[in-house]
This record gives sequence, C-alpha cells and structure tokens, in this order.
Amino acid sequence: MAQLDTRAKLAILADAAKYDASCASSGTSKRTSADRKGLGSTTGNGICHAYAPDGRCISLLKILLTNSCIFDCHYCINRKSSNVRRARFTPAEVVDLTLNFYRRNYIEGLFLSSGIIRSSNYTMEQMVEVARSLREDHHFRGYIHLKTIPDADPELIHQAGLHADRLSINVELPTIAGLKRLAPEKSAPQIEGAMLGMRSAIEDGADARKRYRSAPKFAPAGQSTQMIVGADAATDGDIIGRAAGLYDRFGLRRVYYSAFSPIPDASAVLPLQRPPLMREHRLYQSDWLMRFYDYRPDEVAQAVDPGTGMLPLDIDPKLAWALRFRDRFPVDLNRAPREALLRVPGLGTKAVASILAARKWRRLRLEDVARLTVSLAKIRPFIVTADWRPVALTDKADLRAWIAPKKEQLELFAA
Ligand code: SF4
Repeated sequence: MAQLDTRAKLAILADAAKYDASCASSGTSKRTSADRKGLGSTTGNGICHAYAPDGRCISLLKILLTNSCIFDCHYCINRKSSNVRRARFTPAEVVDLTLNFYRRNYIEGLFLSSGIIRSSNYTMEQMVEVARSLREDHHFRGYIHLKTIPDADPELIHQAGLHADRLSINVELPTIAGLKRLAPEKSAPQIEGAMLGMRSAIEDGADARKRYRSAPKFAPAGQSTQMIVGADAATDGDIIGRAAGLYDRFGLRRVYYSAFSPIPDASAVLPLQRPPLMREHRLYQSDWLMRFYDYRPDEVAQAVDPGTGMLPLDIDPKLAWALRFRDRFPVDLNRAPREALLRVPGLGTKAVASILAARKWRRLRLEDVARLTVSLAKIRPFIVTADWRPVALTDKADLRAWIAPKKEQLELFAA
C-alpha cells in the first residue's frame, strides 16, 4: 500500500464509510466528567445535533479504520476483489483526528467501522484500542459508535461495549437466502448469536447500574443494525417481518434501512439500478409505526400490496393501512381510545397526546384539530368531531387519488 498522508487517507476512508447508514446518536445519555478533566459532551454548548430527514446523524466523524478487507461481499465497494484505492489508519491516527475535529466543534463524536484485515480479532482489537485510548488516555466524553465484527472474540466485544455508547452489527440482507448469495463468507447464525450476546451484556450492564452506581456502563445507547434494501429479491413485507423479529429478539434501538447503491465494478449478481429512495423512506415510516404508533408488525404488514408484497410509493404506510381498513373510520376524536387515534392519518403522537389532554375539559371541534395537523382537508375523511362527521367523503371512491401527494411532489422528494 503506497504511503498516504492523513488527509488522503481521510478522503478515502470517509468516502468508503458513507454506505453505512447506521449512525444516529439518538438514545445516548450524557457522560459526565466529575473531575472536569473530560473532553466533550454529547449535550454541551456549541454542539449541534444535525439529522438528515431520514434520521441519519450528520455530526459524527464517520470513517473506516481501513477499506481493505479479506471478505468479498458482492454489494460492498470495499470487498477483496474491488478495484478501489485502499488506505488504513492506525488507531493513534483515528484518535488524533477525532480529537482535532472535536476541538474544532466539527463533530460530536465518532462512528467507526472497518473492513476486516488479517482476522476478525485483529481488526476488532484495533477498533477497541481507538475507543479505549479516547476514553482512558484523553478522557473523551463525546459519543462513540463502534461497528462490531460478529465472529470476533466475545471478550473484545465486551471491551468495545465498555468504551462505546452504541454498538452495532449489520445483518446486511433481509433474508438468510440473500445473505448466503451476496455475502457467502458471513453466517446468519453467527450474526444473530453475536446480537443475542450483546443484548444480554447490555441488559446485564443496565441492571448492574441500577444496583450499583459505580458499575461500568455497557453500550448505554444500545445496539442497532442495518439492512440493505433492493440488492436482493426481498419484498417490503419480508423486510418489515425481519425488522419486527430483530426488535423483538435482540432489543434493538434502531434498524436502519439503506437503499442499495450501485458500485463501480459491480458483481454481475447485483441489480444494475438502485431502488427508488422513496422505498427506503417508506420503510422508515413503517418502522416508526411499529416503534412509536403501537402498530403490531402484522398490522404494518397489512399496508403492503398483497400482490407485490411492496409498500405503495405514492402514499405513506399509515394512510395505506387506513384506506385498506376504511371500516375502522371515521374515528371519533372525543371518544376513541389512544390506539384508534394513533391510526388516524395525519395525527402524530404529539397531536394524539394533545387531544387526549384537551378532551378531558371540552368537546373538540374541527378548529381544534386544525391546530394539530398539517392538512385538515386530508384528515377530515377519517375523523368525527363535535361539529363534523364525514358522511359523503368516506364514500368517495377516489379518496386515495384525492389524498395522495401529487406526482410532482413525489418527484421533488426523489430529486
Ligand atoms: S466484510 Fe464488510 S467491509 Fe468486508 S466486504 Fe463484507 S461488507 Fe465489505
């Protein structure tokens, strides 16, 4: 490997990391520095949390330790057979970069992933050393997210959890068949075994902290994972089912969905085109329904088209579900339980909380709802208030066409 300076390495290794979506700093708690020797904080002055519309965090230094890899996953630009320029940081270089960027207030933390060099254990040791040095040598209190390697020694994963706020292991593909075909050197049981071990360690760590304040933190922001969307034949129904199983079995904080991007010198087994970005967006919306709107996974799956197994692209999954189950509407905002209110298209969780609080004192009218939603016109077919009942509108055969965003709006989003 030719000698590169730090700037050149950074250009290569930050670019190589952009394909990983799983780096939001939500859910972390502040690491305090009682002795005031600590550096940084995820909530201190001058540090802003910047999120892209799909929830990606953009204020972390997001890099790979190296983009060299002994594996050959078809979808990955860093795979062994890929013809890309390679670079590698030493742990000390990553520590220096993180501290320098942090001091300049460019970042609030570090997201570190890596290709696998020599062996999984060797690579994991290097990543753990970065986190250890930041925390112990430099008293760094910013956010650290480490991508872990499923078959690394559990003791190394444990060390990673003692220093990092969040750990993640990518399941990569939504189905086991997809993983076998596109990442033949990876093993679904191994990935799931590592996620299960991480769940136990996180729960044990949290229990210990409840009993003894001095117990060490273990990955206090939990674990997350990422699935690539559109690289294999998995439908949205498959992806929703897989995500629901992951939340349930491994207690994940987040599942991230990353639309497959065609890569240079792509393997012949990959599709030539990326899926529409709107597909990724609709999957994030379906994920929100499970995490914040109390939809059961089988209910979210009812939003997919039974013929194709895909979520509609022109309307969001909540509206798709409501149109499919028109008999559940209109919902009386003055009487319905929270669960029914959460299913009304156009009502968010805060709006539902406001309705529940306000109706203790008075009967809600349409003008009250107008203050809680972006479009009163679009919510009216689904609700009843003290002064409104949508007799004619619920029967409108073209309700979907009337409510769905216009084609130009969708194109604007795609652009
Ligand atoms: S192990 Fe990771 S870095 Fe290596 S080829 Fe597979 S996805 Fe890419």
